[in-house]
Amino acid sequence: EAYLDNAATTPMHKQAVRVMADALENEYGNPNSLHQVGRRAEDALERARKTLAQSIGAAPGEIIFTSGATEGNNQILRSFIKEGAHIITSAIEHPSVLRTLEYAKSQGVRVDFLGVDALGRIDPLELEAKITKDTVLVSLMMVNNEMGAIQDLAALAPIIRRKSRRAKFHSDAVQGYLKLPLEVKKADLDFLTVSAHKVHGPKGCGFVYVRKGQRPASLLLGGEQEQGLRAGTVNVPAIVGFEAAVNALAPHVEENAARVKNLKAELLRELSSLEGIQVNSPLEETSPYILSIGIPGTRGEVMLHYLSDKGVYVSTGSACTSKDTKDSHVLQALKLPEAAIKGSIRISLTETTTLDEVRHGAAMIKEAVNFLRRK
Ligand code: PLP
Repeated sequence: EAYLDNAATTPMHKQAVRVMADALENEYGNPNSLHQVGRRAEDALERARKTLAQSIGAAPGEIIFTSGATEGNNQILRSFIKEGAHIITSAIEHPSVLRTLEYAKSQGVRVDFLGVDALGRIDPLELEAKITKDTVLVSLMMVNNEMGAIQDLAALAPIIRRKSRRAKFHSDAVQGYLKLPLEVKKADLDFLTVSAHKVHGPKGCGFVYVRKGQRPASLLLGGEQEQGLRAGTVNVPAIVGFEAAVNALAPHVEENAARVKNLKAELLRELSSLEGIQVNSPLEETSPYILSIGIPGTRGEVMLHYLSDKGVYVSTGSACTSKDTKDSHVLQALKLPEAAIKGSIRISLTETTTLDEVRHGAAMIKEAVNFLRRK
């Protein structure tokens, strides 16, 4: 078998499972309780907060735990909904950003969706031109989940700062966190969203980085947890599992990226013999962890099912939209030919992916294409 769908989710790190199981069984306390059991849970929570803060160069007080990136994106974006406000984003964001901003529009917010070039990058000049005195937020993802486009956040921040003292800068960093170097101070971000299950942590867990001095509105009304920014009992077992995964990955971001890039290069070498192949994620310019290819004359879903029967797991666009048959908004924004869009699959790698898995995957993809084109 070859699980090559790591942008959808990753298997949990063994140590994360162990730590989480122990917390579920033994450290079940509510960190808000004043007795010893609660205190121990609070200690574990605050230690995890410190680890996660360090992993992005933030202070512990700037980390707010959430149920994942969908919640994180909703919370940050919704905080900026106000009639007459202006928000800038890109056309290739995750649905948790796009749908929230569609809602914002219905509430009287003006939203600009920046187009992208063939590599999925926005045009910095267009960004600059779109910023007005009403602009309250610029939200741009660090790495695109469907084809691995990388936005150079550190280069975009100065443009925003130069043009506006009001506009805040947010990034959905789900597919970039622990995959590529990331420091919130260097990127000059005000907000950042992360999810645990893309980095070998548990599902239903994540955090938002909230720069000191900022106070996004709480999505949920209730208790005063997380500095009053996120009501609800904190999921300590998931968070310590997340911490264990981060401890395992954070020291090795660059070496892992280099190794995974070699695997992506191998995939590209193996697949380059496919006639008409369209590479949507070139090796040098996009995330090493994500390879999107279009194969005219095949259909993504049909490929996916053929491969699944052979024990090779990939996806079409993304997991969240895989059940609808609409063409991917991301591949459309890249202005790819229709046949390449319809025949697109996404292969996504992770730190633990092996050369054997990649070779097996490539061989099966070639077999699938030959079989399906003959039909
Ligand atoms: N943003 C991006 C770029 C993603 O790839 C995902 C993945 O599903 C999400 C947000 C949503 O994260 P979560 O599953 O934690 O809600």
